[in-house]
Amino acid sequence: MTTEAATAAILVQGLAKSYGSTQAVDGLSFDVSKGSIFGLLGTNGAGKTTTFKCMLGLARASAGSVLFSGQPLEARMFESLSYVPEQPALYEWMTGREHLEFARRSFRSYDPAIAQHLVELFGFDARKRVKQLSKGQKSALALTLAFAIRPQTLVLDEPSAGLDPVHQRHVLDLMIDAAAGGATILFSSHQIGQVERAADHVAIMHHGKAVLQGDVEQLRADEKVIEATFDGAVPTIGGLDADTHVRRVTRQGRLLRVYVTGGGNGVASAIQSAQPTSLRVMNQNLEDIFLAAVGDDQHPAGDEQAAPRA
Ligand code: ATP
Repeated sequence: MTTEAATAAILVQGLAKSYGSTQAVDGLSFDVSKGSIFGLLGTNGAGKTTTFKCMLGLARASAGSVLFSGQPLEARMFESLSYVPEQPALYEWMTGREHLEFARRSFRSYDPAIAQHLVELFGFDARKRVKQLSKGQKSALALTLAFAIRPQTLVLDEPSAGLDPVHQRHVLDLMIDAAAGGATILFSSHQIGQVERAADHVAIMHHGKAVLQGDVEQLRADEKVIEATFDGAVPTIGGLDADTHVRRVTRQGRLLRVYVTGGGNGVASAIQSAQPTSLRVMNQNLEDIFLAAVGDDQHPAGDEQAAPRA
């Protein structure tokens, strides 16, 4: 373990959890530095929620360890740790205001000015009972409660789910602002554009494992996509699918797309020798990186295939 990892705000090592024969989380390891925003991306059922539940003691892990600033989870940590589950944990019969009052009494760090600001920002009626709020308004209340205690650690399971684009942007800004103030944020999302905007580090989960993780900028620099067009159908290019730099190859009519990691000059030369009419090497965005990392085994398309991953 590196010194950096040992002093991480969140350190997850070898986490595993199975439900019967389903291996929901399968030897997951990652660390989140203090003040960092870490995005957990993944396919449906990849194990993101189960990871959070295991981390926060809401599900019993079958293996692995989770440390917060070097310490195992203890009840007192919730004084400065906010967790917003996928389904907000709210009392249906209580009003928004009553929830806020509850938080004020329970958390020393509760800041009424932040709470008021967030109620106005999200524009929900805090006098209404939770059962009278829309799905998005419930999420907004849960996020207001989470941020109003000025936590040092935030674990947010799909914080933008159910929110309109304006409020989604507010959530991103809140996360970025909290991290700038030293808070550590771990969140999951299916909105890759938002993860790209907010997160400095990501892990991509698939079938319970992290198939790719790292610094977002570094991943973008390492991962390229080579796009080539041909006069007729894409020819067979020897060794392409077996090249260890190649993550994924798609062929559609005259268009060949090869997703490569860690360079890929050799791959570009191999394609060049097949005399394409055009060839471009481009940086991948996070969506490309995600698709290349998880393959497309959920939606197989024609001759598309995922190459073995590094
Ligand atoms: P999504 O993005 O769809 O919310 P996820 O990445 O959060 O998915 P999880 O909810 O962690 O995925 O589920 C991981 C796997 O564990 C899935 O196969 C799911 O069916 C299974 N699973 C989750 N909770 C339970 C449970 N309580 N009992 C049995 N299986 C479960």
